[in-house]
Amino acid sequence: MDLGKYSFGVGDRFGHQGAAQLNAIIQAQAQNVNITPVWNKSHREHTIIKTVPADVRAEADAAVKALGWDKAYFVDADHIGLKNVDMFIDSSDFFTLDVADFIGQPADENDKKAFVYKYQRYVGLLNVAGIDEGLSITTEQIGKIADKFLTAVKAAGKIYRHIAAAKPQGDFITEVSMDETDQPQSPVEMLFILAAIADEGIPGRTIAPKFTGRFNKGVDYVGDVSRFSREFEEDLAVIDFAVAEFGLPQSLKLSIHSGSDKFSIYKPINAALKKFDAGLHIKTAGTTWLEELIGLASAGGDGLKTAKKVYRLALSRFDELCGPYATVIDINKDALPTPEKVDGWDSEEFANTLRHNQSCESYDHNFRQLLHVGYKIAAEMDAEYLDALEKHKDVIAQNVTENIYERHIKPIFIA
Ligand SMILES: [Zn+2]
Repeated sequence: MDLGKYSFGVGDRFGHQGAAQLNAIIQAQAQNVNITPVWNKSHREHTIIKTVPADVRAEADAAVKALGWDKAYFVDADHIGLKNVDMFIDSSDFFTLDVADFIGQPADENDKKAFVYKYQRYVGLLNVAGIDEGLSITTEQIGKIADKFLTAVKAAGKIYRHIAAAKPQGDFITEVSMDETDQPQSPVEMLFILAAIADEGIPGRTIAPKFTGRFNKGVDYVGDVSRFSREFEEDLAVIDFAVAEFGLPQSLKLSIHSGSDKFSIYKPINAALKKFDAGLHIKTAGTTWLEELIGLASAGGDGLKTAKKVYRLALSRFDELCGPYATVIDINKDALPTPEKVDGWDSEEFANTLRHNQSCESYDHNFRQLLHVGYKIAAEMDAEYLDALEKHKDVIAQNVTENIYERHIKPIFIA
């Protein structure tokens, strides 16, 4: 079960773009860059769209078969917890244990004491290869980190053991995710989170921290890029250190839950991966559905009509659609175009307004974010939407593949 050095979280809302996504990975292979595809879908997404985890397995298997992919691939139970893991057991072989809700629940006093005592050896100026000035660590700081994260890591341990009991062959990948929280985790926190993960006996293969800055859904990074890139490099250094110190899996790597399209940090990520000869897992699945809308719009006629209808309905249910994503979107409602205005657009205008090309004058990040969270509308349109996907599948597939390869894989892994 080799996830490989580079892996890419694909997967799409409606399960129609498996092959189009895999094609982007195959294009990378032609450039001698090997990437393992991972089809991911969260419980939240399944609930909103009314799909089940077996649908994702079926999509991945079908894509692999259709394109003759003979290398590894995975199906990720994304952001699961003890409450909902069971329904993912049969069809998944990658589990993203989401324990963000447990962050900040104070640790058991004895556990905390034992943890602080055990890691006293790191107090002072800790030398970590790849971090020039080292990490300065105090006893108080370790105590604080224990209080903030020990309960969460123990919760991850519980979920991991639950999965391991149901999959005794142990043939699955474990990711620990803490990204859906307000506060970013510093490299020092990452170090002790990894220590706790090793103590808990979790063979973590990927770890998804919350990075500094805003990772809004479907739009570019908002934050201090140079700070991000410094922390990202320090995280890579800390992971190398932790693997050696704590006996974690050699292949442990960072997982970026990008919320899609963080173009402005791709360059520093690419540079850091080269500098540290590091691996990476990145999830950017969400925008595939926007590429479907762009494809429909580009097709014109009834395709364009369907895309416009999705927008009209999404705008009329703004609060309901944005609610579940409130912390990861910034939409200026007043700046959104009226449905009447959008009805007057031709294919090009609709596609250019939605497509994530920041140098295009028509591009509108408000419009894009609303449609990004508006997939529930398409799910409710049911056959009307799915039939449109079938009818216009060629133009859509082309958009999906090109988006993943040109805008993501190339700048992150090739450049
Ligand atoms: Zn996430």
